[in-house]
Amino acid sequence: MRLKSIELSGFKSFAKKTELQFASAITSIVGPNGSGKSNVAESFRFVLGEQSMKSMRGRRGEDMIWNGSPSVTRAGRASVKLVFDNSDRALNLDFDEVSIERVVNRDGSNEYVLNGSTVRLRDINELLAQANIGSSSHHIISQGEADRILSSTPRERREMLEDALGLTAYLYKREEAGKKLEKTAENMREVEGLRRELAPHLKFLQSQVRKIEESQKLRDDLAQKYLEYLKRESIYVRVREEMLRAERQTPEHEHRDLQNRIVTLRASLEAKKDDVGASKLVHLEEDARRASTRRDALGRELGRIEGELLAAERLSHVVKETVPASQAREFAQKVEEELEEAMRTEVDMRQRVAALIVLAKDFLRRITEGDQSEPGHSKDELLARKVQLEDELTKVAEEESRITEEIATLRRALEGEKDASREAERELFSAMSRRSELEGILARLRAQAEILEREQSALKQELGEAGAFIGRLVYDYETFEVKSASGAPLSDAEIAGEPRTQQEDRRKKIERLKIRLEESGLGNSHEILKEHQETLERDEFLARELTDLETSREHLLALIDDLTKTLATRFSEGIEKINIEFNNFFMLMFGGGTAALTLVEAKPSRRDGRPTNLQNEDLFREDDEESQEEGVEISISLPHKRVKGLHMLSGGERALTSIALIFAMSQVNPPPFLILDETDAALDEANSRRYGDMIATLAKRSQLIVITHNRETMSRAGILYGITMGSDGVSKLLSVRFEDALAVAK
Ligand code: ATP
Repeated sequence: MRLKSIELSGFKSFAKKTELQFASAITSIVGPNGSGKSNVAESFRFVLGEQSMKSMRGRRGEDMIWNGSPSVTRAGRASVKLVFDNSDRALNLDFDEVSIERVVNRDGSNEYVLNGSTVRLRDINELLAQANIGSSSHHIISQGEADRILSSTPRERREMLEDALGLTAYLYKREEAGKKLEKTAENMREVEGLRRELAPHLKFLQSQVRKIEESQKLRDDLAQKYLEYLKRESIYVRVREEMLRAERQTPEHEHRDLQNRIVTLRASLEAKKDDVGASKLVHLEEDARRASTRRDALGRELGRIEGELLAAERLSHVVKETVPASQAREFAQKVEEELEEAMRTEVDMRQRVAALIVLAKDFLRRITEGDQSEPGHSKDELLARKVQLEDELTKVAEEESRITEEIATLRRALEGEKDASREAERELFSAMSRRSELEGILARLRAQAEILEREQSALKQELGEAGAFIGRLVYDYETFEVKSASGAPLSDAEIAGEPRTQQEDRRKKIERLKIRLEESGLGNSHEILKEHQETLERDEFLARELTDLETSREHLLALIDDLTKTLATRFSEGIEKINIEFNNFFMLMFGGGTAALTLVEAKPSRRDGRPTNLQNEDLFREDDEESQEEGVEISISLPHKRVKGLHMLSGGERALTSIALIFAMSQVNPPPFLILDETDAALDEANSRRYGDMIATLAKRSQLIVITHNRETMSRAGILYGITMGSDGVSKLLSVRFEDALAVAK
């Protein structure tokens, strides 16, 4: 990488666009005091991103802008553009030429432009750090600042050395890693906070889920019990229904038949009550009585007629034979009495006896009448009458006997009928008693059917309830196989035949399970499970995030550790190398003596003793206070002098020591360019020569831009620029020959 040019527009005294080309290894800028040479050196600081206005002799950004003069108006902005040849790609950009431009406006705003594109200062810094152009500007030594490295603190010194050793890139990386680490830690705290926030809710949900799982177990248990119960119950009601139906069939038939039979029997008995036979008998008996009375009357008539006839005959005949009337009467009376007695007892005999009575009475009447003679009718008339009467009597007798016969027949029929009725009544009674017996049986069966009906509706209800508890699983009961304790499947008959108390026990167990389930009282378990899952996933996500963060934290720590170690190693190696060069340059400058840099590690307490890692215990420690701070100390020892402290050096000696150190640093890790603004101001002639030799050496590895009044220094430059300032206060650039330059040289 090579510095090609720098262009100043409106920067400080460079009111007009001014370009300096750096075609030589050493470019010398010469000119009278106050012409604007240092402004050129500062333009380098400016364009490279210097933030300290003080280091550019200003208080604010505006001070960098051409402020105007009576003849030239002030500028609105100042810009400086630096152009590098990047053919070697020392700058990590795929361009042969890289231009870096910084613009400052009057409002103090800054703009950085890299190859025409606006970029951040940080981008410029990082880019330059790769090329060993660090922000500590160790490669730009301003006027009067040659001994800055001597007067700075160990820590500042360390920073300059780190920069000079090209460790800035590592520092950037470490800083970046540190920031990332901080961010990571912040993220971790945030994630941990979120997890902590989530934890009680998750814990609560986990306990809910445990409960849900427990109640799920209960539900499974319930489902198994329910399935067996329902299967058994359904079989029981079905078998029981079939049994009752079968049991009912026979008694129902019998009952129905009996019912019909009873109706029939009742009807026939009812019909018999309406007794035609009896009334007929009454009529017949009436007829018989009438016939008997008629026959009696006819008999008596006939007897009277016959008596009359007899009397008529007696009148003509003597009555030969007679029976004392008293005896006959007595006889007849007895016969009559006995027969009447007989009449009272024997129904059947009555007719005959009646006839006997008639005869007896007739006899009695005749013998009574025979005693009297009653003149009247003629014999013929009597005979005719007698025949007539006898005829009539025969007829009446026949009539009577017919009636008697009829009565006897009717009576017999009536007797037969009575027997039949009694039989029917008996049958009716037995039918009725059987019927009530059957009704008892049927009532019992009905009661059982009612119980069964209740059991059936209870089963239906239980199915509904089971559905509410175990869901669609309830339908599985149909295919559930009921097994015995030994595992053998049970037949329907065996199932239905089991004592009901066992099924009742099962139901009680189910009820208890249901109560336990209800007591577990988890509302919407689906929602809870979902929320738990989501919360768990969120927690797991956070845990993973945390692990990732932890991993990246570890990586960052490792990276920082690595960088720190690399830095430490490179730094101490670098310091060692610098020390060698430092000592060489020092000896060269002073013609002897020693100079060394010492690493000082931070010490927690002054009482802990001396700083460690001192390379040379004989060397004077610069400052007791500072020695406690981590950084780099400078120890020197002048030849032939007992001076061992930096503060005891003369101005020239300080300048020589600084130059020795700056050159040592540049030698070890050469910067692309080095700007030395009157670094040689304090040197006498002999040292000026040595200084000239040294810059010639340095120029082999770095481009040098030296602002000088020293002719020796000028003589080493390939290009000489003269800066002048006219009455307009504007710095002007001109190429000058060495001879012309000498005019302004001391
Ligand atoms: P010396 O040899 O004495 O060190 P020099 O050549 O280094 O001098 P500079 O210090 O670079 O001179 O220039 C200082 C000059 O620049 C002063 O005259 C000052 O007025 C001028 N100057 C500084 N800032 C501005 C500005 N913003 N606008 C105009 N002129 C400025």
